[in-house]
Amino acid sequence: MRQTTEQPTAATRSSQPAAGRPDLLLVNARVLTLERGKPAAEAVAVTGDTIAAVGRRDQVSLLAAPGARTIDCQGMTLLPGLIDAHCHLLATAASMRGVDCSPDAVSSIHDVQMALRRRVETTPEDRWIRGFGYDDVSLAEGRHPTRWDLDQAAPNHPVRLDHRSGHATVMNSLGLSMAGIGQDTPDPPQGLIDREPQTGEPTGLLLELAGWLRERLGHSGDEAGFQEGLYRLDRMLLSYGITSVQDAGPDNGLDRWRTLVSIQASGQLSCRVTMMAGASKLQELVSEGLTWHSGDGRLRLGHAKLMLTLTTGALHPNMEDLRDQVDQAHGMGFPVAIHAVEREAVEAAASVVSAGDRIEHCAECPAELVAQVRSTGATVVTQPGFLYWNGGRYIQRVDPELQPHLYPVGALHRAGVPLAFGSDSPVADPNPWPAIYGAVTRTTRDGTKFPPIAGMSATSQEVPVTAALRMQTIGGAHADGSEDRKGTISRGKLADLVLVDADPTEVEPDRLKDIRAVMTIVGGQVVWSSGV
Ligand SMILES: [Zn+2]
Repeated sequence: MRQTTEQPTAATRSSQPAAGRPDLLLVNARVLTLERGKPAAEAVAVTGDTIAAVGRRDQVSLLAAPGARTIDCQGMTLLPGLIDAHCHLLATAASMRGVDCSPDAVSSIHDVQMALRRRVETTPEDRWIRGFGYDDVSLAEGRHPTRWDLDQAAPNHPVRLDHRSGHATVMNSLGLSMAGIGQDTPDPPQGLIDREPQTGEPTGLLLELAGWLRERLGHSGDEAGFQEGLYRLDRMLLSYGITSVQDAGPDNGLDRWRTLVSIQASGQLSCRVTMMAGASKLQELVSEGLTWHSGDGRLRLGHAKLMLTLTTGALHPNMEDLRDQVDQAHGMGFPVAIHAVEREAVEAAASVVSAGDRIEHCAECPAELVAQVRSTGATVVTQPGFLYWNGGRYIQRVDPELQPHLYPVGALHRAGVPLAFGSDSPVADPNPWPAIYGAVTRTTRDGTKFPPIAGMSATSQEVPVTAALRMQTIGGAHADGSEDRKGTISRGKLADLVLVDADPTEVEPDRLKDIRAVMTIVGGQVVWSSGV
């Protein structure tokens, strides 16, 4: 971008106080406002942190204050800042510091051991070693590692290795003993401690026990280095054009809120953060005078996050407890966001939510369930990025009848369900462009297309690119109740903007996944630029 200081001739003619006049002009852009009825423009004027005008260059230039900064966008495309409506900041930040055990980095348990050994050499013995992203099915051995596999690599450090799904963890013997998990530890109701069949000895594999582990270990296992990881994550999100994230941690409480408050106060984070509140932590937040939408534009308290899982074969919590949790959250002023992946869970969630609430994931949703979800008025926050990143595995392993109904963005959109996209990072990379590509093309990373819904057109589960862009912007704003300030390029909204290197509405669909941010603006400040 070329940057100049412009002296608009109109400045002297206006009687408006300079403080209220635009101090930043973005000109020569293809502005996709994503606003209905006013889709395109060529220039944007910003006063402080707010969009003051959108329109033609000559129109907005007239408004500018003397000495206003002008950025020449050189014909590139300007979009509203992208919103990741479901991610896990803590886990992503931690994974950026931990040992990469993803299928791109390791292909066997032996490789995992080698990677851990390298980390052992540079880590003091009292410090945890964390590994992230392993996939039991992708490992050559075709199984989860055990505590004994990890002990061989790191006998003297506590080790914790998280599955790529976020729903399983393996710990070594020292890690288990620090968490107080032994032969006599009963299975908690929400998950499973995997055991040797003969002896009952824990194998190290723990299913759906992340929250339970946090209770037992305090934050020792993950809080150290959270800040450093978060700063790095912030830069990465900005480099993707993401200006707001919604943290979906099911255990977020007062501690996490205070940590985020102090990190935001340090001024080192540029992304705006909405922290959802763990359902079991509402009371401690409310006792401190906090409730839904407490905070400010930088950090806000979001929906109450409820988990609804089928790990043990039955819905957890059961319907009665689920209803109680929802009523309790609503009673304290929090709308709810319910984690529901399997069709049984989606159906149960749809029977308790209403407008203002959200269903997270909605991964399996056949036609009859789409209508039920629609009737609730709730927003669905889903992950078309998984179609791209994990689609190959889904096509191999998921029942072919169900495949057309996985992450059913097209069917939900056509039914009129409000939709937003979230990466679920660290489960998948937070780059939103492969997700937009996944929603528009239903095509996997290796180029395979998902089958269409039986008896319907080949494109029945796809959405037009403008619809997908809206789900990544205004849809995310609607999901957390901030659409009055975010999600479109409109006068009076926050000046959260991203300049990208190609117009997504013009490029071949195949190129959508490769679009890159060139410059990211949060609240009228250029916070990231690619240097192009
Ligand atoms: Zn999640």
